[in-house]
Amino acid sequence: MKISIASPDIGEKEISAVRQVMESGMLAQGKKVLALEEKFAEYCQTGFCVATSNGTTALHTALLGLGIGKGDEVITSPFSFIATANSIAYCGATPVFADIDSEFNLDPERIVEKITPRTKAIMPVHLFGNPASMGRIMEIAKKHSLAVVEDACQAHGAEISGKRAGSFGDAGCFSFYPTKNMTTGEGGAITCNEAGLADRCRMIREHGSRKRYEHEMVGYNYRMTDIAAAIGVEQLAKLEGYNRKRIENAGIYGSLLSGIKGIKIPQKKEGAVHVYHQYTIRVQKELFGMDRDSLAKSLSDAGIGFGIYYPKCIHLQKPYLGKEGEFPESEKASWEVLSLPVHPKVGKEGIEFVCQKIKEAAR
Ligand SMILES: *Cc1c(COP(=O)(O)O)cnc(C)c1O
Repeated sequence: MKISIASPDIGEKEISAVRQVMESGMLAQGKKVLALEEKFAEYCQTGFCVATSNGTTALHTALLGLGIGKGDEVITSPFSFIATANSIAYCGATPVFADIDSEFNLDPERIVEKITPRTKAIMPVHLFGNPASMGRIMEIAKKHSLAVVEDACQAHGAEISGKRAGSFGDAGCFSFYPTKNMTTGEGGAITCNEAGLADRCRMIREHGSRKRYEHEMVGYNYRMTDIAAAIGVEQLAKLEGYNRKRIENAGIYGSLLSGIKGIKIPQKKEGAVHVYHQYTIRVQKELFGMDRDSLAKSLSDAGIGFGIYYPKCIHLQKPYLGKEGEFPESEKASWEVLSLPVHPKVGKEGIEFVCQKIKEAAR
């Protein structure tokens, strides 16, 4: 059996939608992008959506739109994809890291300790599709007058008490990379409720221009193409079905793995919808009798794709060189995490096979 860690689902609908755009001759940002923006804003329960070229440019644009710049500090997680911190650095601001909780998201109490007079924003990451503690984070932000930009690049459709990821903060940022819960090839989106912010983001995306050939600032070309948006409109229509399947798959993993000593399965908060962008277990070496990398190797030998997100924390990467031991929870996570195939096409038999191999390794 061969099982991959990700498997984008591109069908006839996507192909014919792309063909239509190609035949129209209007390839760049146009009607399809507008259609995707409208539908995605509605899906995320926000007033506005601004599509961008990818998730990283969505984050950069949202921060710029909120006025983040040189000398500012933005508090974020050191246990994320590097784009989270890079988008802050692009603005000339400094990413200030705060440690994570046991479920890999920013720990609100660690955020409080990092607030200084320079702090301008908090960027929580809904890692693996599990929403961060937004109630507490929004309270902290309000108390200290900080902006909040949600890195929702892994959390399309995640919820807390019926409220969607991307609708809590001043802005939410999404990625439509092929491995994410929905794709446009490359693509991204900003969601927000404030018309002025949406307008500034559009301007930044268009070389700082609201009116053709009038430029208010040094902006960027961060546009999405209509080709990408055509894929996105079809994918968005299927997103709920994809997420349901991921949640179902996670349930099967949960029941098969819960008895194994040294394997810690993901937990979600009460009232939260976790959309399992990744199904990430912890391999507790002492209890399991084998470390994460050895288990990963035995899965790989059996033809099972896996992911290690992330093997090295951001504060330990060259551009952000911090100290080892500075964020113990994040560093511990980087040694223990192992993501198993949970995408909609895995199938029950595939999951049973993966769990069987884990059980065999445990012996
Ligand atoms: C994918 C991802 C991004 C960046 O998105 P791209 O579309 O790849 O630029 C940012 N943050 C997180 C947490 C991501 O998973």
